[in-house]
This record gives sequence, C-alpha cells and structure tokens, in this order.
Amino acid sequence: STQDLHFDNSFVNYLPEETFFQRITPTPLESNHLVSFNPSAATLIDLSSDEQHCSEFISAFSGTSPLARMDPIAMVYSGHQFGSYNPQLGDGRGLLLGEVLNKKQERWDIHLKGAGLTPFSRDGDGRAVLRSTIREYLCSEALHHLGIPSTRGLCIFGSNEPVYREKIESGASLIRLAQSHIRFGTFEYFYYTQQHDALKTLADYTIQRHFHDALEQPNPYIYFFQQVIQKTAELIAKWQAAGFAHGVMNTDNMSIIGETFDFGPFGFLDNFDAAYICNHSDYQGRYAFNQQPSIAYWNCSCLGQALLPLAPAEDIKTVLNQFPEYFFQCYDNLIRKKLGLFEEKNTDKILITELFQLLQDQQPDYTLFFRYLSDYKPNKKHKKLSGLFNDTAQFDAWIAHYTTRLLTEKVNEQQRINIMKSVNPKYILRNYLAQIAIEKAEQKDFSEIDKLLKILSTPYDEQPENEEYAKQAPAWSKTIQVSCSS
Ligand code: AMP
Ligand code: MG
Ligand code: MG
Repeated sequence: STQDLHFDNSFVNYLPEETFFQRITPTPLESNHLVSFNPSAATLIDLSSDEQHCSEFISAFSGTSPLARMDPIAMVYSGHQFGSYNPQLGDGRGLLLGEVLNKKQERWDIHLKGAGLTPFSRDGDGRAVLRSTIREYLCSEALHHLGIPSTRGLCIFGSNEPVYREKIESGASLIRLAQSHIRFGTFEYFYYTQQHDALKTLADYTIQRHFHDALEQPNPYIYFFQQVIQKTAELIAKWQAAGFAHGVMNTDNMSIIGETFDFGPFGFLDNFDAAYICNHSDYQGRYAFNQQPSIAYWNCSCLGQALLPLAPAEDIKTVLNQFPEYFFQCYDNLIRKKLGLFEEKNTDKILITELFQLLQDQQPDYTLFFRYLSDYKPNKKHKKLSGLFNDTAQFDAWIAHYTTRLLTEKVNEQQRINIMKSVNPKYILRNYLAQIAIEKAEQKDFSEIDKLLKILSTPYDEQPENEEYAKQAPAWSKTIQVSCSS
C-alpha cells in the first residue's frame, strides 16, 4: 500500500540542488478525483488495485499532500526543438515526486505531470489537460503491451479546474512511472552552459543507475554512448515496424534509456502513408513518420556533441556512425518477422521494397494488412486481405512473389500464423478511439478509458467480443487535429 512504499530519492541525494533541480511543492488542482487507475502499472511499485480506493494514495499522488518520504523536484534540461537549440527548458509542469524501490529492488520514478508552476514554466501555466493526459496514459500502455519500450501510466486525476488552451478544457494530471527521466537534453544543458564538471557528474550518475556494465569498460562514457545509440536505434525500428509516429522528437523528449517518452501529438498509422505527419502544427513535416529514423540519428549526434568533454571526438563519431546499422538490423528483422519470413534470403529486400511501394500506392490500413496477412494461406481465398486494395492487379503481383517466397520456409503453416499474430497486432490505439474516450471523459464518463486500457493490454489476442475496436478508422477520424498544445 501507499504506506509501505519505499522511497529512495537518488537524484536528490546524489546530485547537487540548484545545479540539477529545484525543490518544489506541487500546486494541486482543485477537487482532485481519480479518473482512471491502471493495475498493470501499479504492480511495478507493488501496489494492488485496492489502492485506488485509498484516500492516502489519492492525496499523496495527486500532489494534494505529498508523503514526507517524497521529495518533489523539477529537473533542469534544455534541448533542440524542431532543430533549434533552446537553452532553457526543464520540468515546467511535471515534478519528480520521488523514486520508489520495489520488492525486486527496481527503481521507479514517480512523476506527476500537471503539478503547477515551477521556475522552468516559462510562459506555461504548469498544467495539463484531461485530453492530453488520457492520450499519454493510453498510448504509453498500448506501446508497452505491444512490446515497445515506453514510460508507463499509473493513473489520471481529474479536476473541475478550467485550463485555457485553444479553448477552455478541464485540468487533469497524470502519474507517469519511468525508470529514468534523464533526457538527451539534460546532457545538452550542462554542455552548452559549459558546466563540464556537472556534465561528468551527470554521466557518472546515469552510468551508475542505468548502464552499470559501462564501469567495466576501458572507456565507460563511450560504452554508455554506444548503448544509448543502440537502444535508440532499436526503439525507432520498433516504432517504424508498428506504424507509430511520435510527433515531437525534440532532444528533450528523448529518454536516455531509449524508451518512448513524452507523448504529445503522436499517432498510429491508419492508412499507410510514409509521409504521415501526426502533429498538426508540424508544417514542415520535420517529424513525419518516415523522417523518424534520420531525426533520431540527428538527435543522437546532439547527444554525442554534448559528450565531447568526456571522450575523444573520434570515438564518439565512430559510435555515432553505427546508428544506421543498428537501426536497419533491427528493422529488417522486425519486418521479416511480420511477414513470416524466418530464414534470411537475398531476395527479401526486393520483396519488402515492393511491399512498401504497394502500401504507399494503395494506402491500405497498415495494421489490418499485416493482421490479415497473418492468416494468409497460399492457394486459399483471401478476400479480407485483397479487399484492402483498390488495384487488385498490383496486389496480386506482390502476393504471388510473396507466396513463392513463403513456400521456401520450413516452418509449418500453423506455426507461422501463430508467430505472425504474435507480432502483428489486432488492436492499436487509433486516434479516433482515443478521441471517443476523451469526449466521454469530458462528459464525466470514464468507462471508455478503462475499456481501451483493457483491450490494448493484449493487442495480439483475438478478443472476439471487441471486434469493433479492430476496425478501420471511420472517415471522421481524418478531421481530428492534434498539436503540441496539451
Ligand atoms: P513538451 O512539448 O511537452 O515536451 O514540453 C516542452 C517544454 O515546455 C518542457 O520544458 C515542458 O515542461 C514545458 N511545458 C509544456 N507545457 C507546459 C505548461 N502547460 N506549463 C509549463 N511548462 C510547460
Ligand atoms: Mg517534453
Ligand atoms: Mg510533453
């Protein structure tokens, strides 16, 4: 229970105040109430579902009366936003309430997003709105259960307090659990302010906490950087394979441990379009779906730059240049697995290139395509699958090549189908599904949030009772606009 939580606030205890963080008391929202509680994330800190009915939990985690063992702080960072360096960011509305050690001695940051003003709030109001907390909460869980590293959502608190965005919205807050809140931008801050001793302290802390193996390496900082490059490349490969667009890949939104971090105007692809831009205010398409790998690479170069005082430039460059290799190795494997191709063949590249040309030309639903393909059996009818395409000739040509290739695989058909279904989800967090949950929640009906949470926790299962949630997005979904405003 809340009373038994073991807080051990390493960031506060090992790093100097003022330089790395400011101690802040949260400013609670008016009349906080629980909107949703996620039992799956709760187990990470050994809390049971019963905790949601406990008033101590609600008042402590909503920031109304933090526990004495919490030591809430706002962390400083900077970062590159849409390509330009912003020297002063930091937790402008979120606070690290404290770090919990669970029974397995795993350390979890308890972060309250929407906790009020901090010295880093700049023009902001320190608040979050119900809409964006629901989106982050659901998406972080959806990704996690798809097998994509992500921060987690423990619960949402609602309130009657109005928050002003493009229109008046309801204020809310989110408890995010993460193993780290250290960002690429945390390193950039100390580099660009020329606090190189603090930069070293941060790197040592990060290595101690997250990259312990580095301590046995000839150059721990290079090993650490290599690990970040690899984890980041693999994360982006998983996004690309799943059809996930993050939307705001600024370096302050890049987690040092390679998790999906800080959810804003993200979107899963409905119809395939490589150039998909999920953020309505990303006019240039800097963070378009197909730009994500090269942007991540660029972001890694920003991190490499910030590490220059700690390691030889040549070594940093060598490690950085490995990004494409890590990315493609992971991505190619994921796509081959999605296609049920388990042996590597030289011709696979061509087959995959042809497939993505087909998808781009005809823009079928990306998720349904792979799910239906999982059930494909050579020489059997495949109406659902071919029904996703308007130009059946182009599809027929590709499926013929695919069939030939499939017949060279040794794995038996049912096994292949099972494996494909374990990597090709049936349920994703489509934008319109989140939107329905948000609109209901704004009318004080929170049931759809819990329903989606449940469905998205087993995205690869058939769930025959939830067929409705596996459908293509309706036409009105195209009218949903999501931007950075949250
Ligand atoms: P984001 O776009 O959410 O990654 O936020 C970028 C920066 O703006 C971070 O320093 C946030 O803490 C800050 N920020 C975002 N929204 C607000 C807000 N409503 N009030 C204060 N700071 C904010
Ligand atoms: Mg951010
Ligand atoms: Mg954010």
